[in-house]
Amino acid sequence: MFTLLATDPDSQARLGRLTVAHGVIETPVFMPVGTQATVKCVSPRELRELDAQIILANSYHLFIRPGLEVIGKLGGLHRFESWERPILTDSGGFQVFSLAKLRKVTDHGVHFQSHIDGAKLFIGPREAVHIQRVLGSDIMMAFDECPPWDAAKEDINMAVQRTVRWAKICAEEWAAAAEIPNSKLQIPIKLQAPNAKLQNADGDAPANNQYSIINNQLLFGIVQGGSHADLRRECAEQLAALDLPGYAIGGVSVGEPEEEMLRAVDVTVPALPVSKPRYAMGLGQPRQIVEMVRRGVDMFDCVLPTRVARNGTAYTRRGTLNLKRADLKADAGPIEDNCGCYACQNFSRAYIRHLLKAGEILGLRLVTLHNLHFYLDLPRQIRTALAAGDFGRWSREFLEQYKPREDYE
Ligand SMILES: [Zn+2]
Repeated sequence: MFTLLATDPDSQARLGRLTVAHGVIETPVFMPVGTQATVKCVSPRELRELDAQIILANSYHLFIRPGLEVIGKLGGLHRFESWERPILTDSGGFQVFSLAKLRKVTDHGVHFQSHIDGAKLFIGPREAVHIQRVLGSDIMMAFDECPPWDAAKEDINMAVQRTVRWAKICAEEWAAAAEIPNSKLQIPIKLQAPNAKLQNADGDAPANNQYSIINNQLLFGIVQGGSHADLRRECAEQLAALDLPGYAIGGVSVGEPEEEMLRAVDVTVPALPVSKPRYAMGLGQPRQIVEMVRRGVDMFDCVLPTRVARNGTAYTRRGTLNLKRADLKADAGPIEDNCGCYACQNFSRAYIRHLLKAGEILGLRLVTLHNLHFYLDLPRQIRTALAAGDFGRWSREFLEQYKPREDYE
């Protein structure tokens, strides 16, 4: 269930609240990426301390390793990774097309070889829903075909047609699995506090229910169409007709120039229902997130804060900072002045630089904690500004101050 709480008078930015099985998510929201059922370098306790509202996991990776049987037997993904707040799982579509060795794409799905051990596997829309039901995520994504951004228009058109057909099959599977009578697809969410104890028919709480697997999962559709406005619009309109609980903009941030990405979002958002959450997949740099919020996007995920941390790069309000820089060797200041994160509250740039130079794991962990704090605090500030009706001024000031540097990648 998604509730719009406020909209910005000067842009399409919105303040909202999304209720899912394991909790309530205030939007705009950033979702740290936990591809292999872990957000790299940090523990669930640290993620809670950072106040991450929801994290991601990836169906493709977990399907290949450790496999559904293991995670199912261990009680689903929440219990497996000891995370009791919401989880969103990607359907595996993007990874099948980008990581696996493709064998054959048919209208039923994709035959591929695992990038780990070469095993011959198959995922289609029905399999993607089944995988995500076993994982037990709060939000599951429809299986989509994500062609390269510079593919020929006719190939992107074919991917759009297939993505829409697959989304319909995912919606049928999802509704059937949720035991929704007749054809109305929307799942009514039972409001339930995080960690609420489930009871069985005898009134007894089942064993090991601290992170109860609750079968109310939301299904989001994914809009494809590359940088072609007509294809994006067509895909969005056809998916909107399915009345799914939310919609994602896919096939962005896949190597295309930034102007193409912004254009793809510009043409997609107006074709999506106002009353549903919008998720820009794999985005992005801090400036891009602010630009996307201005365009009416509510949800974001990106590997950048954890990935660049492992190269010793920190995000700050003024841009990125390479902590391995020679001039920081004896710098007594924190990574960023006035930052409330554990790294900045306790350690100097000089110490963190020393750890990074010495190859100590703590160095990577401290920069990761700072970067996640930065990425989680950004939407927090956006939400405060939206609630105060002050987002226009806030976003202008942020964009003026934040200078993107290109030298860390
Ligand atoms: Zn910090």
